[in-house]
Amino acid sequence: MVSIKEILELIPGGATKKDEDLITKAYEFAEKAHQGQKRLNGKPYFDHVFETSKILAKLEMDTKTIVAGLLHDVLEDTGTTEEQLAKEFGEDILFLVKGVTKLGTLKYRGHERHVESLRKFFVAMAQDIRVVLIKFADRLHNLQTLQFLREDKRRRIAIESIEVYAPLANRLGMGKLKGQLEDAAFPYAYPKEYKQIEEIIEEKRGLYKKNLTEVREELEKELKKNKVKYTGIDYRVKHKYSLYKKLLKYNMDLEKIHDIMALRVMVDTVEECYRVLGIVHSIWNPLPGRIKDYIALPKPNGYQSIHTTIFSGSGGIVEIQIRTQEMHIEATYGVAAHFAYKEKHKKGHNNKSTLKWIEELKDLNYIPAEPEKFIEHLKMDFFNDRIFVFTPKGDVIDLPEGSTPIDFAYSVHSDLGDHIFAAKVNGKMVQIISELKNGDIVQIIDKQNSHPSSKWLENTKTNTAKKHIRVYLEKHSLLSRLKSFGQS
Ligand code: MN
Repeated sequence: MVSIKEILELIPGGATKKDEDLITKAYEFAEKAHQGQKRLNGKPYFDHVFETSKILAKLEMDTKTIVAGLLHDVLEDTGTTEEQLAKEFGEDILFLVKGVTKLGTLKYRGHERHVESLRKFFVAMAQDIRVVLIKFADRLHNLQTLQFLREDKRRRIAIESIEVYAPLANRLGMGKLKGQLEDAAFPYAYPKEYKQIEEIIEEKRGLYKKNLTEVREELEKELKKNKVKYTGIDYRVKHKYSLYKKLLKYNMDLEKIHDIMALRVMVDTVEECYRVLGIVHSIWNPLPGRIKDYIALPKPNGYQSIHTTIFSGSGGIVEIQIRTQEMHIEATYGVAAHFAYKEKHKKGHNNKSTLKWIEELKDLNYIPAEPEKFIEHLKMDFFNDRIFVFTPKGDVIDLPEGSTPIDFAYSVHSDLGDHIFAAKVNGKMVQIISELKNGDIVQIIDKQNSHPSSKWLENTKTNTAKKHIRVYLEKHSLLSRLKSFGQS
């Protein structure tokens, strides 16, 4: 038997009387509405909406979202009408429940289905991001009870979770939820690969733990000696699906992956993060090229942390992540952290940058006849890992990984892109098709008589660049055909 206490006690600082009354009312309403309905596992249907609401409470979402979690299936699966819901719980909660219900109805199949569901997500997010968070919670609980479904349906839901839900959660900075969704879906989406990854982790776990324990003991000693106050130090094991993806990228070569288990150090301030980095590097030698400062240069989804990989004395290689407590909460809950109870008491916190990103998504050009193009566009511009590069004046340009000076030029201005002659990166001349790295300073040298060539298409990552190059090439070939037509 479930109990409302489980939800109420998740509310930080305890629920107010008003919150408790509203949640209790929704609990009883949903229980009654779903009475007699059973899930495939034989349990009462109400358990599902209860667990969904509990996931939201764990994310420390506001009361209305928790309430909407309890009520999220009453419009679709029970006789409850919109009028009833509005009368009992108000327009806001009706809006959230309607939003979740709309997200759930999809008439497409296969690839088009994913495209359409992504599009619906963007529209919903731009209206009220809480709708999407409820849908995430709903999906996570469905994934956790997937074993009772028919195999083909199971696989479909699992793959959709990996291809649509998880990347979105990631883009919203919700690292924990993204990992949970992927790991719950992984065994059903790719059973063989899942088993393989489990075996790898099992086999190496002992060795990694030994290395990490050694490093941890030594580091704690040094931190104490240097009087650095750390608020937490622990291991984190890489999520299984993200390990699988990384292995694919490195041709399944396990030796190339150093962060299957990592040591995580939490401190109070940014200054202390850098002090810890200094102490780490004074004890162990870092692996060249593996020091990543996501504090100075956060990932586009807001992720902040310092990563470094070191050679531990006994021949092992260990990744160490350093961050403040606040960065840790942000990396775990992302956009959801902004709805948290405690956040309300904080002044001046804004999530404008996240919302701007969502606004842009909504406006994405979508041609129903070409769903593949839409998804390609998304994959290229939004779901890829991003790099930040700089103009000589210090303006930041945000590009997908693997971008070249051509992408950079088109991101600055289409006219600059159309007339690239050469490029300097960090003061040195480079080929305009060379790959840019995070933090590069890029200067484009343009000439009025330089023009795009078809080769550029293969050496660009952004859709902006590709689009402009295509337009130029088409116009150009049309003109030359017209010319030769005039001559004949
Ligand atoms: Mn549901």
